[in-house]
Amino acid sequence: MLSKALDVPHISTGVMLRQAVADGTELGKKAESIMAIGDLVPDDLVVAMVEERLAQPDAAGGYILDGFPRNLAQAKALFDAVGDSAIDAMLLFDVNEDELVERLMGRAGEGRADDTEATIRRRFEVYREDTEPLLDTYGDRVIPVGGTGSIDDVFERVLEVVS
Ligand code: AMP
Repeated sequence: MLSKALDVPHISTGVMLRQAVADGTELGKKAESIMAIGDLVPDDLVVAMVEERLAQPDAAGGYILDGFPRNLAQAKALFDAVGDSAIDAMLLFDVNEDELVERLMGRAGEGRADDTEATIRRRFEVYREDTEPLLDTYGDRVIPVGGTGSIDDVFERVLEVVS
């Protein structure tokens, strides 16, 4: 929805990795079992994938990164690739964990192999250990957005802060 509103591409590493798994590429074969347990796919693989995507012409006028960077090494690689000033803002969606589990379990019907309770718990752990420290890296560019409520409610808040 935001990609449409801003007219910039949505670049989701999770979507790209799931596509690689579905296509049975070398990357997909390496990533599949790691994604299934909720760990992070190795940085070198993900960074190469993102760098290639950012080099596409449609990313020249801006982009929304979704699910990347996920740790300090990836943030450093992004910095090296595009420079610090290329990242305007980081949206931090604030939702309590119980509600997240409920949403993700509800989504299991959509066929995501990693929306099982054990994997969800591991993904929260990885978030706290590896991803949360990035809040310091991006400092005052971090924009908290209330993530509770309907998709439309949350999107309205996103548009407010982005504008
Ligand atoms: P997501 O769709 O963003 O929730 O990602 C689903 C899974 O893909 C994660 O649990 C990781 O296993 C993998 N993944 C997605 N993005 C990254 C990333 N930036 N670095 C490493 N692994 C990732």
